[in-house]
Amino acid sequence: MDRNMNTTFNQLKTLLQEVHDLTKASAVLGWDRQTYMPPGGAAARSRQMSTLSKLVHERLTSDEMGELLESLDEWHRSLDPDSDEAALIRYARREFTRGRAVPADLVQEMTLATGEANRVWQQARKEDDFRKFLPHLEKMFDLARQYAACFPHFEHPYDALLDRFEQGLTKAELTRIFEAIKRPQSELFKAILGSGVEIDDRMLRQHFPADAQIAASLEAAQMLGFDLQRGRLDLTTHPFASAFSVNDARITTRVNENFLNACLFGTLHETGHALYELGVAPRLEGLPLARGTSSGVHESQSRLFENLIGRSRAFARALLPVLQKHFPAQLGDASVEAFYRAINKVQPSFIRVEADEVSYNLHIIVRFEIEVALIEGGLAPADLPDAWRQKFEQYLGITPPTDREGVLQDVHWSWGLIGHFQSYALGNILACQWWERMRDDLPDPDALMAAGNITPLREWLIEHVHRHGRKYPPQELVRRVTGGPIDPAPYLRYLQAKYGQIYAVG
Ligand code: ZN
Repeated sequence: MDRNMNTTFNQLKTLLQEVHDLTKASAVLGWDRQTYMPPGGAAARSRQMSTLSKLVHERLTSDEMGELLESLDEWHRSLDPDSDEAALIRYARREFTRGRAVPADLVQEMTLATGEANRVWQQARKEDDFRKFLPHLEKMFDLARQYAACFPHFEHPYDALLDRFEQGLTKAELTRIFEAIKRPQSELFKAILGSGVEIDDRMLRQHFPADAQIAASLEAAQMLGFDLQRGRLDLTTHPFASAFSVNDARITTRVNENFLNACLFGTLHETGHALYELGVAPRLEGLPLARGTSSGVHESQSRLFENLIGRSRAFARALLPVLQKHFPAQLGDASVEAFYRAINKVQPSFIRVEADEVSYNLHIIVRFEIEVALIEGGLAPADLPDAWRQKFEQYLGITPPTDREGVLQDVHWSWGLIGHFQSYALGNILACQWWERMRDDLPDPDALMAAGNITPLREWLIEHVHRHGRKYPPQELVRRVTGGPIDPAPYLRYLQAKYGQIYAVG
């Protein structure tokens, strides 16, 4: 390496390390806010986190950053595109360009409008009053359109919104993917509802004391590879995972004492997120590349551990004895088969976060189509509740009786998260793509899972997905692992095989 370039590159690296440290410090504050902070800390905490995010923005878009990137431009083109150096420069350039493209007053207006929209949304949901939220919803979509207009090089304004969560993914590509799953998934769901098969899940709906649920869930997380030397499990209201370094990832959970699933599978879900962050190559620690590459790929890890492993027939053999140890009175007599069927019961729900595997992506497609129509202007925000009900009836065959159970249920739009819902569906699809490749590579994954030995599966994921961190954008990662584009076929095969068998349909 040229000596001058070496110095310049190290300056860039130092700057990016500082940015990364500020981001992670903010993550610690955010984790504390959701777990241990007393209510009195709220106002100061908001200010502290907003100061940190301002510092991050200033550094990423500073003149110094611009000058460093310019000096490195020619050298960058001579680098192996697969090198960490090239990836780091690509990352910095993208953040710099994106940060500079959006005027400061628009950023500020978005922050202010979000705080207000979120406050009103909480009220409107409680009172089931869509009209109350409407002006704020209009405002959020208006601001989203203004934000998208800052990036005129995208083919469609929705692409600019998507790019924040899934670099390079477009509305056209997403439409192709969702069109492929929409009919078959909807038909499978309706066939199950019409099958007359009733699964008895009463074993999961007994009284399970909170302490024992947390202990059992933690033990299950440890079976998947979660290590208390490099993580913690705590309680919260809306569970999430957060990583402070490649050696410290926090997961959170919540407990419903009358239903086992929320704590158990919620914990396994967050464990998947944490394992992704903990699997990033140690050499990337301290740099902004040391994190999951996108929301969708992140969700592919959480869903893989929660569903493809956690709700599999094979893993049920290892999981049930652990639960029986913690709940001998409630589950002592349960058979593996009855437990497997109970944890995979399909039941119609209006609420996305309660949806089973078969209907989950249909909830997302409703939201995606509505978001696109609102951004394109083909749908007015005032007509949203009707549009929601129509699509729900069409894809799921059920109609939410209230807006609280319909259009008002999610927090995302009040936070300005438009273009984000798709990552949940994409995660389910990607999880099955990794899964099929992994099953080709490992001799007998079912035997491993049945024995509670998840290590070879996790090592496969580290090797192919985790260790790269944010080095490759999502679609490139998919190509590297599977040799092709995002492909919904493995996902459909998985759903049809699993639920066709459980419900004797298809
Ligand atoms: Zn998640």
